[in-house]
Amino acid sequence: MRRPKTVYVDSDILVVGGGMGGCGATYESRYWGRDLKIVCVEKANIERSGAVAQGLYAINCYMGMQWNENKPEDHVRYARNDLMGLVREDLGYDIARHVDATVHKFEEWGLPMMRDPKTGRYQREGKWQIMIHGESYKPIVAEAARKAATEVYNRIMVTHLLMDKSRRRVGGAVGFNVRTGDFYVFRAKAVIVAAGGASHIFKPRAVGEGMGRTWYAPWSSASAYALPILAGAKMTQMENRIVLTRFKDGYGPVGAYFLHLKTYTQNAYGEEYESKWYEDTKALVGDYIDRHPVPTCLRNHAILREIAAGRGPIRMVTKEAFQDPHKETVGWENFLGMTIGQAVVWASQNIDPKHTNPELTTSEPYVMGSHATCSGAWASGPEDYAPAEYQWGYNRMMTVEGLFGAGDTIGGTAHKFSSGSFTEGRIAAKAAVKYVTEKGRDQPQLSETEIEDLKKAVYRPMEHYEIYRNEIVAGTVSPHYILPIHALQRLEKIMDEYVGGISVNYMTNEPLLTRGLELLGMLKEDAAKLGAEDLHQLQRAWELQHRLLASECVTQHTLYRRETRWPGYYYRGDYLKLDDKDWHCFTLSRYDRESGKWELEKAPVYHIVD
Ligand SMILES: Cc1cc2nc3c(=O)[nH]c(=O)nc-3n(C[C@H](O)[C@H](O)[C@H](O)COP(=O)(O)OP(=O)(O)OC[C@H]3O[C@@H](n4cnc5c(N)ncnc54)[C@H](O)[C@@H]3O)c2cc1C
Repeated sequence: MRRPKTVYVDSDILVVGGGMGGCGATYESRYWGRDLKIVCVEKANIERSGAVAQGLYAINCYMGMQWNENKPEDHVRYARNDLMGLVREDLGYDIARHVDATVHKFEEWGLPMMRDPKTGRYQREGKWQIMIHGESYKPIVAEAARKAATEVYNRIMVTHLLMDKSRRRVGGAVGFNVRTGDFYVFRAKAVIVAAGGASHIFKPRAVGEGMGRTWYAPWSSASAYALPILAGAKMTQMENRIVLTRFKDGYGPVGAYFLHLKTYTQNAYGEEYESKWYEDTKALVGDYIDRHPVPTCLRNHAILREIAAGRGPIRMVTKEAFQDPHKETVGWENFLGMTIGQAVVWASQNIDPKHTNPELTTSEPYVMGSHATCSGAWASGPEDYAPAEYQWGYNRMMTVEGLFGAGDTIGGTAHKFSSGSFTEGRIAAKAAVKYVTEKGRDQPQLSETEIEDLKKAVYRPMEHYEIYRNEIVAGTVSPHYILPIHALQRLEKIMDEYVGGISVNYMTNEPLLTRGLELLGMLKEDAAKLGAEDLHQLQRAWELQHRLLASECVTQHTLYRRETRWPGYYYRGDYLKLDDKDWHCFTLSRYDRESGKWELEKAPVYHIVD
């Protein structure tokens, strides 16, 4: 292996991850910081990176305030209801009040929006969703970021954040170019992490050659969590993983089907089943089951119970809607613009939804902060709206000075989706510019020793491979190193079996979680000996490290919260009921990198909106 060159890049604001949040942050940093050096670093290419890479058919968060359709408060109530009472209302409100302006910018930049021919308004798919011709959504958003940035560095995987020598504020980040192998040191006065959520933490339903076919993008590898965790930032609600009900095998989304095509579900015998589980669910969660709309996790719960009772599979009734040629077109286009894989699966399995009601399934769990779930970093709230306890300086700044976040990175704010994540990037950027101009003017002092140590650590998997590969005479198993794919499969198996994945019907308990943590500890020891054959595998090795740390955090949080708050997402068998008396609170964790220990605590939930 040639000795990698070290490239130094100085910036005022460094944005890690050029997805929806990162593009929003890059764009807005330029607006407020005309003379600042703004750098965006992305492990893929911002043109087609992140969860939105393939395009979307709907923008899921739009208030429609210009037509008095919804108010920001309504969205807070909606998200709070869906998350069984626990959201950061200050952060959610902050996004909701600004999100419409973001969507209007998308249209100005060329995103084709569907309009209701009668009213001229954006075509609604549901109360919060508007429909778009969204195949080019990401390139359009990326163009705005590209034009705003001083520089965009594509193909660089960020592995660690850097701290100032004082250890009191963030100082930048390091990573490597996945094509050239060069080592990059980004010095920055403020860092905004927007690196997406986490798939492949739990074993997916599709394994082997199908393992890339997950609902959530397989390249979303938990950097958004691992980077701040390693820097000592507090995390929140990491137990709140999400399980999606989706069309089987292709994970095609069901939203447009329910909302726009008015399809509905039934069991294998053509019966309505949700109402059968009303009393059962009420016994677990009390009157949360009476809320409208019924929280997503509780709808999953009814599906899981019905299948366990032997009346699966659950099917989406499409045969009626698809008799209408317009609806049939919309049904197919919904996938062709967003999840082509589902259309291909149906074609390959002889499923024509006009004649066959397709099966639904519940996915493996994922960790994210922008969908119907709110795992992520604990962030300071907006000055004019957040309770004092939620404010320690700048909006969206984590508990580490100068470190900001957006999108899936920030916890407590479910239902922000693509438009809300971009908006949150803008909010974080405005605050980061303020921080840089007010407090963080000086370039942080970095330790050269730390940088050199990190450089050695980053390339160690390639060194391991080079030294020990000759011991292998056949196959891929070596006594001296573990390959990223093997470590990933072991991680997924531990999380699946011990922390509430698909093979245990999302069930876990204290003994399982405790054993899970022991096994994760052993995997951590072995992961110090990862072997990487080339730069591609080196990226896989660091993605694995990030997933592993995030998984440990998820497990710690799941152990700490002694209740089942979201049945249908996961169950604590030893505490099967929702417990508002003791657990109507956020869970917070902090990792100590030196000792490897976690500290957990509760934080109050403030209901600001009535
Ligand atoms: C399957 C699916 C369907 C969805 N459907 C809709 C929908 O219909 N409508 C809607 O409005 N929203 C939808 N969303 C939500 C929306 O996609 C997300 O809310 C949004 O993309 C989150 O923005 P983000 O910036 O946090 O993450 P992303 O947009 O995923 O961006 C993260 C970026 O960080 C980069 N990155 C990751 N790790 C590193 C690293 N270590 N170093 C450098 N770069 C890194 C990634 O490559 C990526 O570009 C959907 C999400 C999913 C997963």
